[in-house]
Formats: sequence, structure tokens, C-alpha cells
Amino acid sequence: MAVEVVVVGGGYAGLAVIGALQDVPDVRIQLIEPGNAHELIPELPEALSVHGAISRHVVDYAEILDETKVKHVKTAAIGLQHTPPAVLTQDGSKVPYDWLVLASGSSPSMPPIPGLQKYGHPLRNAEDTARIKEALQYHKAQRVAVVGGGLTGVEVAGMLAADHDVILIEAARRVLPALGRGLAEYALQRLLRSGVTVVLGQKVQRIETHSIVLDRDQYGYDVLVWAGGIAVPEWIRHTGLNLDDHGFPITNANGQATDRIFVAGDLWHVTADGKDVPATAQVATIAGHYVGTTIGRLILGKPLEATGFSPRLRGMLISLDPGQGVGWVLHGGIPVRGLSARALKELSFRQYRLKLARTFRRP
Ligand SMILES: Cc1cc2nc3c(=O)[nH]c(=O)nc-3n(C[C@H](O)[C@H](O)[C@H](O)COP(=O)(O)OP(=O)(O)OC[C@H]3O[C@@H](n4cnc5c(N)ncnc54)[C@H](O)[C@@H]3O)c2cc1C
Repeated sequence: MAVEVVVVGGGYAGLAVIGALQDVPDVRIQLIEPGNAHELIPELPEALSVHGAISRHVVDYAEILDETKVKHVKTAAIGLQHTPPAVLTQDGSKVPYDWLVLASGSSPSMPPIPGLQKYGHPLRNAEDTARIKEALQYHKAQRVAVVGGGLTGVEVAGMLAADHDVILIEAARRVLPALGRGLAEYALQRLLRSGVTVVLGQKVQRIETHSIVLDRDQYGYDVLVWAGGIAVPEWIRHTGLNLDDHGFPITNANGQATDRIFVAGDLWHVTADGKDVPATAQVATIAGHYVGTTIGRLILGKPLEATGFSPRLRGMLISLDPGQGVGWVLHGGIPVRGLSARALKELSFRQYRLKLARTFRRP
């Protein structure tokens, strides 16, 4: 009888799990995923620019999985049944598994700031992007407030600066904590030169219809984009898995939450040398491949890697506007700025698409 592997979520991690497992003999793979298309989330800030289109940044699952035997179960997971093991889904069915991978990504973190739920637009997926695009008018009289000076907030502010009056608000005293100070300062200067007003060192206290109230100042806005970090999706809290203080499933070094359940991608709280590894598409892809390979070895009775998962980031690149970027490549060895950083980011997008095609296309 075939071994049943169920993957929840067809994002960067879920597809990498499937890619690593698809050639293991006698394995039947089911993907539980409510969407029709794989969303290339790191590309979504580009879709916000005036000539951007969301359709350019998604790839239909029908196209990806066409030549595979993977079954796409088109619904969302809402819980787990532990005996006998099965995933409970929104359409009322139970999907039994021998091995399960939870790779349903993260949700935007929405702290209890008065007015945030009502007026803030999170940006986490194509649907959020479409809502923001609907609100944008692409003229300089419209003010867009972007809250959060991390990777997402900086990219959105930079993308919109040509056509809007943009204000970027960050509680810390610097932007881009994931980059060294010199590169972050370069990004800041670039944003300022593009006309973005950057407010550092003030937290949002409350949000009103057209006004955002900070610790000391208050600013008017027309559209508010919330880029305040990520959280664990609510349904994971009700799975009966052991969770850490932030709500992430507790795993061993292989991403195993229980004997038969793994997590991958943003849901896997990975640390290296005592530090959090940033939740990125790059890490999600490497982690998904690692988890898929690990399950394949367990199925085939092969020994596992002794060291556990330890990602080595190839680089980190951030777009600052349609022609500029900043970051580092070659495992942190080389800082890059300007046109070359932007070109390298484009290249990384293209490489991912090629990798997808190579992984799922038969010769
Ligand atoms: C605006 C933005 C810009 C970013 N830029 C970069 C960047 O430049 N570089 C980078 O490396 N990273 C970037 N990231 C981070 C990166 O997008 C994530 O780390 C990555 O997508 C995580 O991959 P994942 O597979 O865990 O989740 P996702 O890619 O989010 O995939 C999760 C999948 O699970 C599905 N799903 C959700 N809930 C359920 C459910 N209940 N049941 C079944 N399926 C479900 C979703 O539909 C989705 O298809 C960015 C993120 C954002 C929001």
C-alpha cells in the first residue's frame, strides 16, 4: 500500500517538500491548499507599483503540478485529528496521513492597537495586495502611511514613492534590522532621496479614520499599509501540538513536531547560534527541501542527517524602488547596493521560477 504524505500549504516550503518527495517510490502526495495559484510573495511589492499586475506574480497549481501525481485538495486545513491521524478541512472532510507537513505560512501580526484592524491594510498575500491596489490612486496628493521599517515596509515605501506621498513609520531607531548598519543607512538615504518621509523611534498609539497617532507626533494618511511583522496563524493554536511562547509548534532539529508531523517554512521557528533565522522564502525553500528529504529517508528506512537543519543563507536582497536595491550576497561576504543589488534580486526571482519548472517538469 502506498505511503500517504499530506502537505498543508503550497507555498515556498510546501512545494519544496513535494519536490523532494515526488520520486520516492510508493508515496502518494496530497496537497491541501485553498488557492488556485502559488503566490510569489517576495514579488508582491512590485505588483503595487503603477504598472504592476498581481497576475504576473502567481503561478497556477494546475501548471506546476500538471505532470506530477500530486493530488491538489482545494480547501483549507482547520485542525488535526490525532487518532486515527487526519487533517480536518474547511469543506468538512478528513484527510488521513502517514506523514504530515504543516507549511501553511504565517499571518500578519496585528497587535491590539486601536483602529488597526479597521483601517490598516496588512500585506501578506495576493488578496491583500489586490485590496491595497484598489485603495491606491497613483497621484502625489494621496498619502500612504507604511508602518514597519523591516524588509516588507521598506520595499513597499520604495515602490510607492514615485506616485504617492509616502511616510514610513518605524518604532526602532533604524530601518532594516536584518542588515548591517552601513547597508541600512544606505537604504534610509535612498528612501529619503525618493521623497519618503521616514519617522523613526515612535510607536503607533492609535489609528483614526485619516490620522495616525504616534508617541509624540500625529500624521494624516489616506491609505495605511501595516508591515508590522508576522504571527502564527490562529488555526495552529487549536491543533493540540506543543507550542512555544510565540505560538510556533515546538520541533526537534529536523522540524519534527511529533513522530509523524513536521513543520516547514514560516511556521518553523528556526534558530542558528542562538539567534532567530529570519522567516524568508529562501529559508522556507531550503527547509521544505530538508523536511521532504528527511521524510523520504524515514520512509525508505535510511539514516537521517546527524546535524539537523542548519540553513546557510546565500544572500539577502531588498528592493528600494523599481531600479535600486541593497543587501548582501555570497553568504554575507559581499555587500551590494544600487542597480546591481536590484538586478541580483530580479535574477533570484527568475532562478526560483526556473527551479520550479525544473523540479516539476518531466524531461
Ligand atoms: C511583502 C513581502 C515581501 C517579502 N519579500 C521577501 C523577499 O524579498 N525575500 C524572501 O526570501 N522572503 C520575503 N518575504 C517572506 C516570504 O514571503 C515568506 O517567508 C515565505 O513566503 C514563507 O514561505 P511558506 O511556504 O512558509 O509560506 P507561504 O509562501 O506564505 O505559503 C503558505 C501557503 O499555505 C496556504 N495556506 C494558508 N493557510 C492554509 C490552511 N489553513 N490550509 C491550507 N493551506 C493554507 C497559503 O494559501 C499559501 O499558499 C516577504 C514577505 C512579504 C509578506
